[in-house]
Amino acid sequence: MLDHSGREIDYLRISVTDRCNLRCRYCMPEGIKCLPMPEILTYEEICTIAETAAELGIRHIKLTGGEPLVRRGVISLVERLKAVLGIEAVTMTTNGILLEKELPSLIDAGLDAVNISLDTMDRGKYREITGTDGLDTVLSAVSAACAAGRTGLPGPADPAGCPADSPEGSAEAAPGRRLRVKINAVSLDLGEDNLHALINIAKDMPVDVRFIEMMPIGFGRDFPSLSHTVLLEKLKAMHPGIQKDDRHHGYGPAVYYTIPGYQGSVGLISAIHGKFCGTCNRVRLTSQGYLKTCLCYNDGADLRAVLRAGLPETEMRAALFESMREAILSKPDAHCFDKPAQITENAGMNAIGG
Ligand code: SAM
Ligand code: SF4
Repeated sequence: MLDHSGREIDYLRISVTDRCNLRCRYCMPEGIKCLPMPEILTYEEICTIAETAAELGIRHIKLTGGEPLVRRGVISLVERLKAVLGIEAVTMTTNGILLEKELPSLIDAGLDAVNISLDTMDRGKYREITGTDGLDTVLSAVSAACAAGRTGLPGPADPAGCPADSPEGSAEAAPGRRLRVKINAVSLDLGEDNLHALINIAKDMPVDVRFIEMMPIGFGRDFPSLSHTVLLEKLKAMHPGIQKDDRHHGYGPAVYYTIPGYQGSVGLISAIHGKFCGTCNRVRLTSQGYLKTCLCYNDGADLRAVLRAGLPETEMRAALFESMREAILSKPDAHCFDKPAQITENAGMNAIGG
């Protein structure tokens, strides 16, 4: 559906849990208390919201967390969401620690794409940031996901036409269904060696490597981001042949660049230095069932209250539809990261889902 300023809202991010098996310092450092399970939406409730969202024009769902793969049964949720009429793609963002083991089931369940979060290629720095010695595990999952992408099960063509893994891109075309794979790195300014090592993943594999400016939400407030104006200059100095890549890569706000000889592209998601609110297409559902319409503000709708109000099914669904419609319609025009005093969101990213 269109919001009040005419933006098409077709993308819903769903945080399935606030729990995580890592402790990234900018997201969920040691000592953070997790919500009691009864406060978290059940899969049944999530599916009811997804059905209503699809009626309102949502076409793409991203599962996030916390870490989505730590919640038991999440693969069956993927399967159920894939079956919701109107939903064209279900994707997931994960830290990759549990991914390799779950890949075959995720592919069987119909997962369309996976984003793997990885901020550094240095083992010590990875441990410092996340609290876990997990770099090798994540890199192994990245390779396995790419291999699964090349040999995935037969199925529908890639709906997003991502060049890093579609026939029109530079990567080899696969005969069947593809699992699109992207790397997401928060721009922590960890030095040129790290930058070089991260973008080399796109050289070696058909994977887009995307950098995300740190947003002043939750503990992210204490970690200044490397400005993407600066990052782009660094990339140009490293690779004078780098060129803007206008091909369609997915549903998000990343601006892509190609480097000669690289299989994947490099993406910049510049929430701070490249404000993209005018084309924002998304809303977010927190693990507690709050529909958030902008990262910056706590505006939105308490859908859990509607689901648990004890209404008869038909009335509950009508109320849910109306709550979601009203919230989406009045989505804020733009974030206010440049005016921190106006930020009204106090939840951490592990509860919101990024
Ligand atoms: N655990 C999963 C993961 O790490 O991909 C999913 C949840 S995590 C909150 C989703 C993404 O949000 C991760 O890529 C993480 O790096 C990013 N993130 C967390 N805090 C952030 C912040 N303050 N600004 C920008 N991105 C942030
Ligand atoms: Fe966990 Fe993801 Fe947050 Fe890291 S960024 S603590 S992996 S939820």
